[in-house]
Parts: sequence; C-alpha cells; structure tokens
Amino acid sequence: MTQLRLDTPVKFLKGIGERRAEALARLGVVTAHDLLWHLPHRYIDASTVTPVARLKVGDDAAAVGRVASKGVLPTRRGLRIFHAVLRDQSGAIECVWPGQAFLDRSIEVGQTLLVAGPVRFYHGRQLAPREFLVLAEADDEEGQDPIAAGRVLPVYPATQGLSHKIIRGLIGRHLEQLIGLSAEILPDDLRRRFELPTLPEALHSVHHPKSTAEAERGRRRLALDELVDLQLMLGRARHVAKRGRQGVAFEVKRELTTRLKENLPWPLTDDQRRAIREITGDMTAPDRMHRLLMGDVGTGKTVVALFAMLLAVENDYQAALMAPTELLAEQHHLTLTRLLAPLGIAPGLLVGRLSAAEKEKIRSQLAAGSMRIVVGTHALVQETVTFQRLGVVIIDEQHRFGVEQRAALMAKGTSPDVLLLSATPIPRSLALTRYGDLDMSVLKQRPPGRGTIRTTVRGTSQRDKVLDFVHGQCIGGRQAYIVLPVIEETEKADLLAAKTMADALTARWDDLAVGLVHGRLKAPERDQVMRAFREGDLDVLVATTVIEVGIDVPNASVMLIEHPERFGLAQLHQLRGRVGRGGEESHCILLAGRAADRLKAFAATTDGFRIAELDLEERRQGDLLGHRQSGDAEIRVARFPDDNDLLGQARELTRAVLDEDPGLELPKHRPLKARALTRYPKAEVLFRVG
Ligand code: ADP
Ligand code: MG
Repeated sequence: MTQLRLDTPVKFLKGIGERRAEALARLGVVTAHDLLWHLPHRYIDASTVTPVARLKVGDDAAAVGRVASKGVLPTRRGLRIFHAVLRDQSGAIECVWPGQAFLDRSIEVGQTLLVAGPVRFYHGRQLAPREFLVLAEADDEEGQDPIAAGRVLPVYPATQGLSHKIIRGLIGRHLEQLIGLSAEILPDDLRRRFELPTLPEALHSVHHPKSTAEAERGRRRLALDELVDLQLMLGRARHVAKRGRQGVAFEVKRELTTRLKENLPWPLTDDQRRAIREITGDMTAPDRMHRLLMGDVGTGKTVVALFAMLLAVENDYQAALMAPTELLAEQHHLTLTRLLAPLGIAPGLLVGRLSAAEKEKIRSQLAAGSMRIVVGTHALVQETVTFQRLGVVIIDEQHRFGVEQRAALMAKGTSPDVLLLSATPIPRSLALTRYGDLDMSVLKQRPPGRGTIRTTVRGTSQRDKVLDFVHGQCIGGRQAYIVLPVIEETEKADLLAAKTMADALTARWDDLAVGLVHGRLKAPERDQVMRAFREGDLDVLVATTVIEVGIDVPNASVMLIEHPERFGLAQLHQLRGRVGRGGEESHCILLAGRAADRLKAFAATTDGFRIAELDLEERRQGDLLGHRQSGDAEIRVARFPDDNDLLGQARELTRAVLDEDPGLELPKHRPLKARALTRYPKAEVLFRVG
C-alpha cells in the first residue's frame, strides 16, 4: 500500500474493502481522518455495569452477560416476546423484549451482550432492555467478557452491516498510525495557558482510555476545540457584520404594519404583541438586530416575522424569509400571500424546483427591487441572487442551516437585520453555543381557538382499539400520523416494521389511503408523499422520520406514536406539535410497552420549555447508561449542561486569538483557520469579505 495520509479514502485501509467503506460512508466516515474522528459515544466498564446477581427489582441498570439460552414465547394475548437468559460470574437473569420476535434472528447463544433497562418482577426478576449491544461473538478471540477483564470499552456509533464491534476493531487496528499523522492545532502558549492536553493525546485518550475519567479528559479537549471553531466563525461573522455598518435605523411609519394589524383575521396574543415590540425596538435602533424568536409550533411565529418584514418594506427595503425545505417555504409563501392580500402585496417564492425561466424572472425582480418580499429555500443564497436593498432577513428553523448559510444570506444586504425562528425551545446555555450572543423573544401562549390536544398513554395490548379509533377519525374526514422510531443499530428491522405496518394498515382499511415516508427516501419522493398528505389524498401517514418540523396540516387530528420509549421527550413534543393545528380536538396517543413515569410526565404537560428541561436532564442521565446524544450536526462532542464551563473557556480562547489576529492570517493561526474552515467550509465567505 502507498503511504497512509489523513485524506486517504478508508477503503484503502487494511480490513476495509468496498462494502465496509460503503457502510462507513453512511456514518460520515470517508477518509482516514474521518475514521480517527469517529468518536465513541459512550464507554462501558465495570463501574457502569451491575453484576447480574445484584440487579434489584425497580432498578434501571446496565448488565453484561453471555447468552445462555434464548427463544420466542407467545403470550395469551398473541404478542410474541423474545427472551434470553444472560449469565455472568455472579448469576443469571432473564431479559425480555415484548413484540420483538425478530431479534431471534440476530441474537445468538454464546454472544456477550450489554443490556440496559428497567428490572421488574414477573415470575422472578426480569430485565426489559431499552437497548442492547453485542459486545462479543461466541467465538471471539478477544475473550468473552472484556468488561470482566477490566477493560474500558469504547462504544462507537454503528450502522447496518457494520456493528460497533467491527468499528472498534478497525479503529483499534489503525489508531496509533492515524494519531501519528495528526498534529496540534493551537499555538503552544495558548494550549499551556489553558492547561490542555495536546490534540494527539486527547485522541488517544478518547479511543483507548485506561479509565472513563481519562476518556472524559480527552473528550473535553475535543469538545473545547469544537466550540472554539464555532466561536471563531461567530466572532468572524460579528466582525464582518459590524464593519461598515452605518446603522439602518428603520422608522415606524405605521403604513403597512398598521394596515396588517387592522386586517388580521384575529387579535394578536400578548406574547406576539410583546415580541413585535421587541423586534421593532431592535429594528428602529441603529445597531443591527440579531434576535431569536423561539416558540412551540403553533404559537404564531410567522405573523410576528411578517411585521418585521413589513417594517423594512415600509422603509423602502426588501425582506427575505428562508426555510429549510421546499415544503416549508411553500407553506410560508401561502400564509404570507393570504395575510398580505388585503394590503395588495404579493410575496415571491424562490425554490429549487422552479424552471430556469421562472427563477430568472424572480431574480431580476429582486435585483430591480420590484419584488419587496420573497420566501425561499437555500436557493436564496446562491451567488446569482442579488437584492436591490435587502433590509431584513428571517431564517426559519434556523438550526437546520449552517452558520455559513445564514451568513451568506445576510451578506446579500449591506447589513440587514436578522431574525431567527426556532420551534425548538432550548435552555439559554444551548442557545449561546449555537448562536453566540443574541437576543431572544419567546412565545409561550398559543392563540385561542385552536383545538386542544389530549395526550394519552395506552398499552400495546390496546392496539386494536386504538387503531379502530384512528379509523373512526379518518372516516370522519380527519387525518392521522402514525410514527415509528428507527434507531441505527436496528435500522433494517425497524424499516421493515414500518413497511409491514403500512401494508397491514392498507389491508385492514380498504376504505382509507395509507402512505409511508422514511429516512431512506430521497427528498423529492419524500416531498411528494408529504404533499399528498397535506392535500388530503392520503388519510394516514406512516412515518419513520421525525416528520418535517413545522409542517402544517390543520386537518390532521391524530398522532399515534409506536414505541414512544425509544424517543426523547423533546422529540415526542415535536411530534405532538404536528396535530392540534386546526380548530377541533386532537389526540396524541403513545402506544407504549409499559407506561413509564417519563411518558406520564410528558402527557401531563404541554409546556415546551419544561419539556426541554426534562429532556436535557434525561439525556444527561441517559449518558451514564450510554444513550446516544442526539442533536446538532455542528456540535457533536460537547454536551450541555456538563460542558457549560467550556463555553466560557472557548470564548476566552477565541477572543485571545481574534483580538490579536481578526482575519487569522498569522502563520501560527493557520492550522486553526484551516480546521475551522474544514468544519464550516462555506464560512470562507466570512474571510473573503473581511
Ligand atoms: P408557528 O410557525 O409558530 O408554528 P404559525 O405562524 O405557522 O405558527 O401559526 C400557526 C397558525 O396559527 C397559523 O395558521 C396562523 O394563521 C395562526 N395564528 C397565528 N397567530 C394567531 C392569533 N393571534 N390568533 C389566532 N390564530 C393565529
Ligand atoms: Mg413555523
């Protein structure tokens, strides 16, 4: 083999052929560098697992043992239960997976399993795994219980066809060589001042720790780096934004904004009124507005954003609203068209699927200034798009865009005001990492007159009754979502379950139209199914993906969630927000194997901020058990609130760098700039305009 470099494609590494390279690509691992940066999402050692004999009823625990026997048991109610007896040196315990008979095909006698979940009493102690991992095969050389042998085992994100165990082997095999190729990024004086391990040391600690404490030290160095890169981009964006800014202070002319208020079909909520006041305050001040408008789905963010747009328009500026998908852009366009009709303003729509001629027409109207308001997708940030005078930029579901895409849209104006919208309420610390310093307005109230949402937790034994209820709703003219979770480690089985479910429902309900969307569909196909649902051509939508945040189908009145225990609380809340958008009562039904307290707590509240807190707490605890951290694409290693202190450190470090060298032009900062630009490739624009 030729000499290994960090940009060598993984398929040229020993032990990785075409097939494994393909599977690795699904995990985002394409080069040797990516493999080195494919980090464990948790560790298992003796301190995190309980000896089987000591598992107590009522515990929520993790255990490791060999599969001594296994099989599928039918129950009286017709539910098939997969069960396995796990044995370690201290004893044995029965594990049960109700309704997951398919596991019989993948779990084998002799394998060493890690299981985590609640222990209960049913003819003896039983553990009902929320999740499991195969740590070793029956014939593994590594020894049948690596944990008992005193090792700290890193566990890697895995995918279909490539278990975490294989990944662990591959990384272990190449680790020393790959680390040998990586170098420190920070200038030495800074690294010492902040008492950080070197980057190669940190990578070693993370992949091959002697203790979980060592792994954590390594992880924190990598997390800090991640936050530093983000702060560098945000700091640079601020620097660029401030430069040349001669305060566009809009004036409240009470023309369009007042006419909108007079023509609204309903009164604004107090929260909306306050948010509009705050935004108006920002926009009339000479400083550039940089504000986040946060509120659960259905709290009415769009109309608040419209006020900001009209304030710009009545001052002879243009306004742009960018949404993450075509579907959402179309939906906003429709809403704005309706609200603006009485004012005689027609907003434009710019999305990828328009014909070249249609796009060209909109582009020339924007450049000439005859189009005052435009809604679009990232098509808006393409270089060919120019504005005559862009005064305000609204970015919906902004976390779906990178810092650099947001910056690119802002760069279309001289220094437009910026309003970010988010339907995901998050605690302040998280907001700070994602967006840097910015102001926030919050919508908590829902407009009156919206139907309430009843949340109920039902046992899987009641599935038939629940399905009959769903059928009744649809026959009555309403629509329903049925959502199934997909977790990567069992993706194949999960997808199969969703298809099976959609087929079974089609057979069961010959009087209803049932559609299916899942994460493997390409965007256009997915959009097609979603459109059919929105237009009422489908009555029931079976979905494995978290359905488009923000999608608005007021006629949908049922959200049925299978295996709710496998979703985070914030995700459940997002899903619930898909219904209750029309005037009538809606239903969110959780079809759970068991009614856990967390689901009851969820059913009892609709306060998104409360749920965000519960969710964060749950994830923090989940990490001990080893749940995967879901979240930002940009922030993968840092976690909150644990790393709140790193945030301060990252800012201090970043400030030290940027104060000395705002454009990162000094030789000693080159590696830092190069890495930040690798993480945020499109941020190059920030350095060019500087
Ligand atoms: P969000 O984007 O926050 O999820 P939208 O802006 O899409 O919410 O608003 C949801 C629905 O509520 C829309 O149909 C909108 O017309 C309606 N709406 C907004 N504000 C009010 C209000 N004050 N009173 C009644 N309905 C409202
Ligand atoms: Mg919205």
